[in-house]
Amino acid sequence: MAASLTSQARELDATDPLSAFREQFHIPRTEDGREQIYFVGNSLGLQPRLTAEYVALELEAWRTRGVRGHFSGAHPWMPYHEFLTEPMARIVGGLPSEVVVMNSLTANLHLMLATFFRPQGRRNKILIESGAFPSDHIAVESQLRWHGLSPEEHLLTGAPRTGEVCLSMDQWCELIERHREELAVIMLPGVQYYTGQVFDFARLTKLAHSHGITIGFDLAHAAGNVELRLHEWDVDFAVWCTYKYLNSGPGSVGGCFVHQRHATNTELGRLAGWWGHDKATRFLMRPEFKPIPTAEGWQLSNPPILSLAAIRASLEIFDRAGGMAPLIAKSRRLTGWFAALIREHLGDSFEILTPAERGCQLSLRSHNPRLPGKVVKQQLDAAGFETDWREPDVIRAAPVPLYNRFSDVAAFVEHLTRLRAGEA
Ligand SMILES: *Cc1c(COP(=O)(O)O)cnc(C)c1O
Repeated sequence: MAASLTSQARELDATDPLSAFREQFHIPRTEDGREQIYFVGNSLGLQPRLTAEYVALELEAWRTRGVRGHFSGAHPWMPYHEFLTEPMARIVGGLPSEVVVMNSLTANLHLMLATFFRPQGRRNKILIESGAFPSDHIAVESQLRWHGLSPEEHLLTGAPRTGEVCLSMDQWCELIERHREELAVIMLPGVQYYTGQVFDFARLTKLAHSHGITIGFDLAHAAGNVELRLHEWDVDFAVWCTYKYLNSGPGSVGGCFVHQRHATNTELGRLAGWWGHDKATRFLMRPEFKPIPTAEGWQLSNPPILSLAAIRASLEIFDRAGGMAPLIAKSRRLTGWFAALIREHLGDSFEILTPAERGCQLSLRSHNPRLPGKVVKQQLDAAGFETDWREPDVIRAAPVPLYNRFSDVAAFVEHLTRLRAGEA
């Protein structure tokens, strides 16, 4: 098997129009100096070579120009976030006026809920998944308490049936129908972090709106991974981070989408700061607030420029690659091949939890009593295969089209095959 897999992979890499992009990234190495097989771009994306250059430019501007860096140079800091707006809007399918890079994901979620969760009469509940990412769960519960509402009564959660890991979109729609009169806000992931399931944004949004419910998405695992058309789908709001598939470094600044129909409404209530105030009069230093009539009207503070510089470098690489469409085309081939190889060679030992509607991640669960998941994970770590572990029993592996190769997938499957045979 090994020889034929390797030659197949070589052929697939040779005909991959995006294969050269790997060279634009730093690939981490194992202790003995080999390149890691890095399948955790869903957790922390790799560093583009361009990042150091763009960050160094801002360090130099600060070193040589001091405070004047706010207004001078090729990329003055005052409008620096604006350099990111259009490339980021292309990633999520928003209008530039709907997208802003600011804060972090959870902070943006709170800002969005402050605006969009307005409990009224019977319509005073929020729907999330029972298995939502902990921060989302915590943020939503704390919003309810902030309004004096108890999560026991006002938080509705969608839970998969016993023995299943996902809710189908039909099940989500039934749940929404059932609670259509009590729901104020629905908050769902774009791509579920544990299973890798992609949600049907258009269908859920249409249904929510037909019942007067506001709907927002957490795109942490979707931005830079799957096709997004937030404007066209009419999504109310969305939030995401940039350190996963958007390769912008640990804890880097997040993104936020507010649909045009809301963004232009300066009457909408919000938690505000001076950076969201009308740019023409911001520095008159009056204690008034006239929101910018775009997503920028939700900004609080002047942003961390070094982090934005890393985002600028990363987004430039997405543009060089031709945007999301060619990346998604490769991702489908890469992860499709990965899934097919697992079924063919390892189907007796590993189950793929990820449904067909997916991005690049596969969530794998071992059924082989001689190879418990945790042991497999340790063996993969020791051999230079970076994956991640999610309690209670899942290994997540995400080949990323910008820097992973078909040969990475082949090496991974071969290694698991040797593990199963007791040879590694
Ligand atoms: C990664 C991730 C987060 C992380 O939130 P931060 O505010 O960036 O720390 C939140 N929600 C989901 C679904 C995630 O995948």
